[in-house]
Amino acid sequence: MEFLTLRKSIELLQTRNINIKKYLGQHFLIDRNTRDKLLSFAELQKDDIVVEIGPGLGALTDGIIEKVKDVYVFEIDPDFCNILKERFSPYKNFHLIEKDFLETERRWWELFQGKVKVIGNTPYYISLPIVFKILDMRDKIKLALLTVQKEVGQRLVASPGSKNYGAVSVFISIYSHSKICYLLRKDVFFPKPEVNSVAVRIVPLERPVIKIDKEKEFTRFLPQIFNLRRKKISNVVHKIFGIEKEIFERLLEQENISKDVRVEALTPEEIYRVFEIITTLKASEFQSDASFKGLL
Ligand code: SAM
Repeated sequence: MEFLTLRKSIELLQTRNINIKKYLGQHFLIDRNTRDKLLSFAELQKDDIVVEIGPGLGALTDGIIEKVKDVYVFEIDPDFCNILKERFSPYKNFHLIEKDFLETERRWWELFQGKVKVIGNTPYYISLPIVFKILDMRDKIKLALLTVQKEVGQRLVASPGSKNYGAVSVFISIYSHSKICYLLRKDVFFPKPEVNSVAVRIVPLERPVIKIDKEKEFTRFLPQIFNLRRKKISNVVHKIFGIEKEIFERLLEQENISKDVRVEALTPEEIYRVFEIITTLKASEFQSDASFKGLL
């Protein structure tokens, strides 16, 4: 399959009269070496089933299609769906789904017997919702290789104490091993984005690091405390939940957590212990309609 260079991509778009839609995060990979290096982190095998998010003109698809068993691609833009159909219809293992990836339902993922690999140069306006979708479907996913804006990638993989560590880093580290595996310069995309990009490799864990009982409440709690990331946890808990500092500090001590620790330095395990202490003390404080959206 022919790789579409910058010249060929522009020619194709012009002959079809297709305008690039910024609001759909359309930036196309035009460097073959970068494409090949990026895909090497997916460790593709002949029996893999790949789900690709936003194939565009098919730069990743044409590096994947001959290496794996099946490829299911989600593309929201009908103009690109037409091109994809023409380019890839000779392949029996190519399946185009003309739909918003975020609308996939659990029953669709459950049609696969085993686990799939998810790959995508993600549209940046929905990178985080895509990550949460992947965590939600984690029991059906072997690994996800996602190109995201560099700052988002740094937030995803950040450790306690670092400036990028936050609600999203805690959440993702409970359910997966995530790593930035590759840096992509702006000029490997057309049109050139304003930001640098990184590829993040997310491998969902068989069992989460922490068994979270009240996931919705916990996802609401995380951004609440990280809004005050530089403050000591006992002050934060007093300020947000009105819990007496003395009582809370005594309970923290029982958990071997320093009363002077700042929110940004707490490990995910410690944060969950704090959450449990608070839910025990104030059972009705959290609204139950919260969702991943609270982490965005
Ligand atoms: N994978 C191609 C590449 O690397 O050259 C294109 C990547 S471009 C950054 C993102 C692609 O995702 C575009 O083709 C865009 O139309 C598509 N897209 C945007 N929102 C989408 C959504 N919600 N579901 C599926 N595809 C989407």
